[in-house]
Amino acid sequence: MSRHRGSTTALTSLIAVVIMAGVYLMGRSDGRAGRPFSLANPAHAADAPTVSPTKARARDFYAPNSEDLRPDEMRLIACGTGMPTARPKQAASCWLLELGNGDKFVFDIGTGSAERIAAMQIPYNFLDKVFLSHLHTDHFGDLDALFVGGALAGRQKPLRVWGPSGDTPERGTKYALDHLFKALTWDIDGRAGITDPRPYFFDVTEFDYKAVNGIVYQDNGVTIRSIPAIHSLDGPVSFIVEWNGLKFVFGGDTYPNKWYAEYAKDADLAIHECFVAVPDMIDKFRFTPQGALAVGTQIHTAPEAFGKMMSIIKPRMAVGYHFFKDFDTTAAINDRIRTTYEGPLSLSEDYMVWNITKDDIRVRMAIVDEDVWPPPATGKPQVPDPSLRIPYSDLIAGGRYDMKDVIQPTYDEINKKYGLDEKQE
Ligand SMILES: [Zn+2]
Ligand SMILES: [Zn+2]
Repeated sequence: MSRHRGSTTALTSLIAVVIMAGVYLMGRSDGRAGRPFSLANPAHAADAPTVSPTKARARDFYAPNSEDLRPDEMRLIACGTGMPTARPKQAASCWLLELGNGDKFVFDIGTGSAERIAAMQIPYNFLDKVFLSHLHTDHFGDLDALFVGGALAGRQKPLRVWGPSGDTPERGTKYALDHLFKALTWDIDGRAGITDPRPYFFDVTEFDYKAVNGIVYQDNGVTIRSIPAIHSLDGPVSFIVEWNGLKFVFGGDTYPNKWYAEYAKDADLAIHECFVAVPDMIDKFRFTPQGALAVGTQIHTAPEAFGKMMSIIKPRMAVGYHFFKDFDTTAAINDRIRTTYEGPLSLSEDYMVWNITKDDIRVRMAIVDEDVWPPPATGKPQVPDPSLRIPYSDLIAGGRYDMKDVIQPTYDEINKKYGLDEKQE
């Protein structure tokens, strides 16, 4: 009897192990690799700490502005992973890289991504360095939002932007930003004399898109290089960041290329586009079959080609983006990648977070506060000079309806609280 029981227990244990292994593998196959997933310390480790009925356990999500970054650590946050047509679940390409030395870099700032950046609660003075892979709007469409929104919320200096040249001056980053600045003339002129004037400038560094592994940035122990990419027209690039013995690669849009295969090798974390599978482009995006094949496999990188590239460069973590990640698309993308790549993989979505050290890569999702307000400015504001204000015309100024009686109590309240003597116009 006891013997029979013993074998039943053994059998039960064996079944449990098989089920747990299955659950673990399923967790990996959805691209999120369990929650949280850590290469060095998987969640199913047998040495997990004892659970207490009164003590908090370590969070299995990332709450912005709640964790120190260790001096040897990189934190990468996906602030946009989707398509040119931004949607509530996915903004277009945007990647926020934070280093343990305090440096922060934004790689691409695609349409819809500025609100994801805001959700990270980082003071805007630290968000002054943007690197553009190319000039499609899904990679720089929210630059104006960070430029003006960041200026109003505590950036007290120009916004620095690095981006590639084009095959003509008109197709380069400098031309694009000169004209974006001109397009913002009304916006910027209307703020003269009202807000801190220092942040309303772009500081643009345009570099040669043909340079192979050329240095585009070097400061504070951080080196950023660019390599060419093959996408739509001449001009697009990818970036390689090296800091503290860690290598991070951000691949912009491209047909798989030989430069990425060579210079992204052995990255700690390598991002590469992995486009919507061709059948979904036809069925869901309503492309013609011809258009879907051309765009999905020739202008961009098909999932199978993404996998082949990752098998060549062998990163510690491969990250795919640039597809709509849904319940009915993820499995197919994963299956296609797995025909050519077996290594560690994150199929990214917005708010995915990677903590990268030499020993570990931890993958989690961020849980964000939708009611977030801007963090405090890190420097003293420069008081604007009211004489710089551009006046209304007489016709427009003369259209003011008299509201002085109902506004005056607010002036009284604020003057009293702050010891001022401000008067209505
Ligand atoms: Zn593109
Ligand atoms: Zn794109």
